[in-house]
Amino acid sequence: MTEKMLKFINIGQESPPKRAKSERKEDFNEIYREFINEKAKEQSSRCSQCGVPFCQIHCPLSNNIPDWLKLAAEGRDEEAYQLSQSTNNMPEVCGRICPQDRLCEGNCVIEQSGHGTVTIGSIEKYITETAWEKGWIKPIKVFNEINQSIGIIGAGPAGLACGEELRKKGYQITIYDRYDRAGGLLIYGIPNFKLEKHVVERRIKLLKDGGIKFIHNFEVGKDSSLNELREKHDAILIATGVYKAREVTIPGNDLNNIFPAMEFLTASNRKGLGDKVEMFDNGTLNSKDKKVIVIGGGDTAMDCVRTSIRQNAKSVKCIYRRDKENMPGSAREVMNAEEEGVEFIWLGNPKKFIGKNKIQSLIVDKMKLGDPDESGRRKPIIEENSEFEIEADVVIKALGFDPEEIPRLFDEDRLQVTKWGTIKTDFDNMETNLPGVFAAGDIVRGASLVVWAIKDGRDAANSIHSYLQLKQNPKVA
Ligand SMILES: Cc1cc2nc3c(=O)[nH]c(=O)nc-3n(C[C@H](O)[C@H](O)[C@H](O)COP(=O)(O)OP(=O)(O)OC[C@H]3O[C@@H](n4cnc5c(N)ncnc54)[C@H](O)[C@@H]3O)c2cc1C
Ligand code: SF4
Repeated sequence: MTEKMLKFINIGQESPPKRAKSERKEDFNEIYREFINEKAKEQSSRCSQCGVPFCQIHCPLSNNIPDWLKLAAEGRDEEAYQLSQSTNNMPEVCGRICPQDRLCEGNCVIEQSGHGTVTIGSIEKYITETAWEKGWIKPIKVFNEINQSIGIIGAGPAGLACGEELRKKGYQITIYDRYDRAGGLLIYGIPNFKLEKHVVERRIKLLKDGGIKFIHNFEVGKDSSLNELREKHDAILIATGVYKAREVTIPGNDLNNIFPAMEFLTASNRKGLGDKVEMFDNGTLNSKDKKVIVIGGGDTAMDCVRTSIRQNAKSVKCIYRRDKENMPGSAREVMNAEEEGVEFIWLGNPKKFIGKNKIQSLIVDKMKLGDPDESGRRKPIIEENSEFEIEADVVIKALGFDPEEIPRLFDEDRLQVTKWGTIKTDFDNMETNLPGVFAAGDIVRGASLVVWAIKDGRDAANSIHSYLQLKQNPKVA
């Protein structure tokens, strides 16, 4: 093994090349190129094959990373792919957009010893893209159809992963979504320059070809109640994500040209998909030639600033109330934004929107950092008499998301939620307090990550399978 692996001593870390800043600002294509075969092999061979692989422990899906790296280093790409897909329904998506610096790569032992982490995400992407290219990825083939059906509400990564795992077992799956396309935030939230849409559409087609039924433009709560769906199916999964935008409650919030992040990003993603978007076409949701201010410091804020850059904004500023070190967003995305020309105003907190009908400027308080709060990050405190003004034609609010009021929307007030409004589930099996109704993804965790939504979807599938087996044959108990 040592012959092929442990090359981190002689081979330096390399990521796939990034496109030049000047080039990537001109379009919405992904910014990283792919590894060529020889580079992927070489970079895989840097793995130190730890006895206790911390990368695997810190991957929410417990991906068997050292083993698929070894197979890739040996040029056994098809086996590497089979192993990788056995724990992950969308490895090419995770390889692109997981915050690897906080998960697998951030815990790589050779990173800790100063050699630079194995570029796990890029290799995961390489392996899966190779599998697509070579035709190794095939639709699900069911040999024993089971006459029980599961209704899944929400076609985001949690719903899709759960649907795929249950379909593999032979169940009849219907996925309902209020949007006109499947994919959830993978389609309408995350911009193309991080995740090109054909990558998601290819997966959805595969699931359709494998016999999963999708019903679009179907909003549970409007087009049916939860109870009506429960009567139709043997089990239900709620995977509706979190969409209630957090607000900034300061004077002037009702002025025109102040938008929530999702409205802005959805319009841009729809344009990229070729849709007619009136609010974009008439210039309202288009940053071209405008002074744009984005409020927030998470990944959604980074997606908004970088989208504005690509729409040819006159200037793009991001205001965040803590400093760079205490930002919630991925360091990689902040670096990309800085490279592309975004100006960051650290330690700034919006105080007042100014304008007549439309926003014209923003008054900002300067902040300083106090003691750590319950999240462990240092608490921002306003500096007395420190306010300053910044001009703005458009303000985008990216302050995070809370759950919608699901019991009320679903016309089912018996459905229990937590004090945060997320759906309350049994920690062991993800079942809600309503028998046969399960929940997964952001609607249970609060705003999180794609990889956690996939993990939840897979776990929920196992629990639904056990529940349905018991329902079919109570004597098993
Ligand atoms: C702008 C943005 C950027 C992000 N970037 C990243 C990133 O780089 N990396 C990362 O790992 N994570 C990222 N995330 C987080 C990630 O997208 C989510 O954690 C993940 O998509 C959650 O999956 P989900 O299946 O729980 O919900 P979602 O993806 O939100 O899907 C829920 C689906 O349910 C549908 N739905 C909701 N209510 C109803 C209803 N009543 N009836 C029918 N259908 C309904 C919605 O239309 C949607 O399609 C980002 C999030 C945002 C907003
Ligand atoms: S799924 Fe995410 S955390 Fe797990 S190995 Fe892939 S990139 Fe790393």
